[in-house]
Amino acid sequence: MNLNNFKQSQLKEYMQPYVLKMFFIINLTFLIAHSFLTIIFGYFNINIMFYMNIISILLYSIVLIILIKTKSINNLIYIISLELIPHMILAIICMGWNYGFQIYSFVIIPIIIFFDYLNKTSNKSTKRAILLISIIIISFLVLRIWSYHNNPIYILNNPFVEHLLYILNTTLTIIFMSIFIFYIMHLICKFETILYKNANFDTLTGLANRRLIQNKEDLLMENEHLNVSILDIDDFKHINDTYGHNFGDEVLKQISLILKLQEKKLKDFTPIRYGGEEFLLIYNDDKSENEKLETLNTIRTEIQNLQLEQNINVTVTLGTAFNKEKQSFEDLIKLADKRLYFGKENGKNQLVSKTI
Ligand code: GH3
Ligand code: MG
Ligand code: MG
Repeated sequence: MNLNNFKQSQLKEYMQPYVLKMFFIINLTFLIAHSFLTIIFGYFNINIMFYMNIISILLYSIVLIILIKTKSINNLIYIISLELIPHMILAIICMGWNYGFQIYSFVIIPIIIFFDYLNKTSNKSTKRAILLISIIIISFLVLRIWSYHNNPIYILNNPFVEHLLYILNTTLTIIFMSIFIFYIMHLICKFETILYKNANFDTLTGLANRRLIQNKEDLLMENEHLNVSILDIDDFKHINDTYGHNFGDEVLKQISLILKLQEKKLKDFTPIRYGGEEFLLIYNDDKSENEKLETLNTIRTEIQNLQLEQNINVTVTLGTAFNKEKQSFEDLIKLADKRLYFGKENGKNQLVSKTI
């Protein structure tokens, strides 16, 4: 299996149920519209269109059954295009340009483009979509010229029906296009949120990752009260080796829970999973330095007092730095890291806020 393909298709996989629902609604709408047209064409003895619509109804019923049974749209979209295009051509040849059947070409194009995107695993499907769209555009132009020079097969001489069908065709198209675009925008917004979460948040702990602050470092430095700390779990490799990786993961989750609670409680406190077992704490509040140090120490003791399996205790070491000490965010991090290192070298389980 090509893993790159797998990664790309995850989003589409997620879209599948929504798209299935949308496709189901499209099908049902077409089925109702064709049933209505069958009645009208039957009533006025427009036999060619009457039989064409019977075929359409059968086709959409089959598509609907396949859809319900297989729960997959795969190539069904091409079946729909192969019905819509001949229907449009035939309707204009039979009835002429004034009934507005040509407007359905505007419905087919976005559907083809969207479902082509969903099916896209190779260039092949795009070529097929381009071919279909070209057929639609050419048909549209040829039919316009044809209907200008030729009379349609059926001449009803009934302005009421002409207007009724024109209004029906155009209104249906407008409603359909609005719902379609609205639904796609809704999907895009939904996936944007998912992508944002996937990109900026860590799946194990639910905390933000470092991408959240990427390119915002200068903005953070604008706050003179900014305080950054690096929190690192003590002897975590030993914990993993002794109690297993799963237990290690549990420790990471429990620590993250403590940090999240502080995030809720405090103003402008953002914990970030910086690396494997390292957390970056950004504290932007205008509280005094001492108050901030007190909070950081509380976090350290809360972690130490965590009730873990088999009464195992976990400790952490923190290095912290304040904005006034450095000019750039990067330097501030370096300073916090240096202090963390000092704490590790000098007994661990402590908060280091000064360079000695
Ligand atoms: P120190 O007290 O000096 O920080 O020592 P340490 O053992 O904590 O530090 P070291 O850098 O040697 O080891 C970090 C360990 O963290 C190694 C790695 O296996 C573990 N680790 C990193 N990410 C994860 C994770 O997501 N889950 C688990 N269970 N372990 C992780
Ligand atoms: Mg570390
Ligand atoms: Mg560590």
